[in-house]
This record gives sequence, C-alpha cells and structure tokens, in this order.
Amino acid sequence: MSDDVRARQCSRMIASKTIAIVDDESFDAHRAPRKHVECPERLDAARSGVARALGSAPRTTIAAREVREDEILRVHSREHLRALEGALRGSFGSIDADTYVAPGSRTAAWRAAGGAAELARALVEDRARRGFALLRPPGHHAERDRAMGFCLLNNVAIAAAAALDAGAQRVAIVDWDVHHGNGTQDAFESDPRVMFVSLHQWPLYPGTGAPGEIGRGAGVGTTANLAMPPGSGPEEYGQAFRRVVLPLVSGFAPDLVLVSAGYDAHASDPLASMRLDAASYGAMATALVDVAEQLGHGRVGFVLEGGYDLDALESSVEATVRAALGARVALPEGRTSGTSQAALDHTIRALAPHRPELR
Ligand SMILES: [Zn+2]
Repeated sequence: MSDDVRARQCSRMIASKTIAIVDDESFDAHRAPRKHVECPERLDAARSGVARALGSAPRTTIAAREVREDEILRVHSREHLRALEGALRGSFGSIDADTYVAPGSRTAAWRAAGGAAELARALVEDRARRGFALLRPPGHHAERDRAMGFCLLNNVAIAAAAALDAGAQRVAIVDWDVHHGNGTQDAFESDPRVMFVSLHQWPLYPGTGAPGEIGRGAGVGTTANLAMPPGSGPEEYGQAFRRVVLPLVSGFAPDLVLVSAGYDAHASDPLASMRLDAASYGAMATALVDVAEQLGHGRVGFVLEGGYDLDALESSVEATVRAALGARVALPEGRTSGTSQAALDHTIRALAPHRPELR
C-alpha cells in the first residue's frame, strides 16, 4: 500500500469518528419579549445532548458566519429579504402570530443560515463526514416570499443550495420535524437536483404536505410527503422509513443527505401528538447514515428545527449524535394501524409512476 493510499484511508477512518458542530452564542440573543416555546433554553438542551453524546470524542467546530446575500437569494426572493431586513431593524416585533423578532434576531438568523451553509460545504468537500448544526431560529417553514412558523430564513434550504454550489450533483433533505417543511418544499419543488422527503403529523400546522404533493415541472417525483396520522409512534416511523424514505433516498443517490432535525414528534412534545422516543431518533439517524455509507460517501448533516420539550430535545439530540458517530440503533418493527398503512400507500401511489424504487 502506498503512503498516499494509507494516508487517505487513515484520514477517512478519523473522519468517520469525527463530527462537525455548528454553534454560535448569537443564537441565544433571539429571544421573545414574553414566554415563547421557541426559546434560547431549547438550544442549551440540544447543546447538552451533543456534549453528552460526544464525551471525549473528537469534533471539529464550524464557525457560524453570516450568510451572504447571494446565498439567501438562491432560496428566497429579494422582496422577502427586503421585508425581513425591514422587520429586523433592532426592536421587538412580530411577523405573524407565531413568529417574533428581537434585537438580536438579525445576527442570529444570518449566522444560523451561514453556519448551515458552511456545514454543507464542509461535508461536500469531505472536510467532515457528519455534522450537526445547533442553531436558532429554525428555518423549514420560511418560504421563498415569507417568514412564518418561528422561521425567518430557511437554513436547511440555504445549506442545500450551498452544497450544489460546492459541487454536489444531488442533495436529499429528510425532514422529520413533526410539522410539514413547507418552506423547503417551496424552495425546491421544481428542482430535480434536490429531493425533499417530509414525515409530518397530518393534519397539523401549516396544513400543507398532502401525499399528492410530489413536486412540479422538472421536479415532479423529487418531493415526497408522508402524512402520518396523529398518534404515530416508533413502529409507524420504522415502517415509513423501510417502505418509503430509505428506498427513495437510496434510489436518488444524493451526494449529501441533510436532515431537518426537529424533535417535536417526541411523545413529550407539547405542540403535537406523536409517540416517538429518543431511541426512535437514534434509529432514523442510523438508517440515514447507513444509506449514506452505502452510497460510498457517508455524508450526513443534521440541522436543528423544532422540538419544544427540553428533556426530550436533549435526549433525542444525544441519540442522533451518537448514531452520527457510529452507534447502531435498529428501526423499530411491529404492528401498525391500518390508517398508518393507508397513509403510506397514498404516498407510494402518488410517487410510484416517477420513482421505480417504489414500484
Ligand atoms: Zn416542528
């Protein structure tokens, strides 16, 4: 074996045990004037989960720099950017009933999106094989033209666009936040280079994400919506992954897998009525890491979205990071309800004409 080959294998082994972490103290300054579920304490819980999972394992830190205007404009309209800049002039305010802005929000939002973009770039350039972006405000509800649902800029969508700019041919975004990632779908539903797969409680805010929404134009077949019935638990998510999520991502063969990692499908979460536990997140993360490894590159980046029970958030983030570092958790098996199977059948029927792996 040549020294060159040995060095490359060695760096690959080191990389598989290393995770790149995005974090920045500016995220804590995005704070509502009154009690709000999307609060800085959430990030402290997630940080604690990451720290517990890492222990003494090596990590690299990715600095969360401000996102550039050209990166924002890949995903959002100039009108949205102007309106947002206007709303973020330094005082407290609200964009809608759910979505507040504070004096620190502009820096936080710009660094959150810039940090996510940097993580995607680091993964595509093989400077890391796994990453977790600890950030606030979350992003997946922010559409091309509007902020909503606690989200100002769409972090994961800006990250996916940055990955394409860095040379990725295809990017898959799996969104396991309990709410539909309407903003991310809006960004890429006509773009065949980005596959968007969302598992969400149905019906629930924001009301989009029906199984028949499968993309538009050249992007038909690269949007998948799994409308999970309320009460879905580890078995239902396990089945959804086996029947739909994993075949789709594997068949699409992305150069990078990004995860909109929200933790509000946990049984303890106050905003939804699903039944996941921390191990379920470990299992879903393991399954996606396995697909990425089978594709030959192993690149998986997690971007924090929702999750509003602090203990659940901490333990679930810990399970995710442990899986990212190589811990193995099997997808749950077991009986699922007829309603749940019918919902998956609906998604499969809608997509099968466009996705041979589902036939
Ligand atoms: Zn959510």
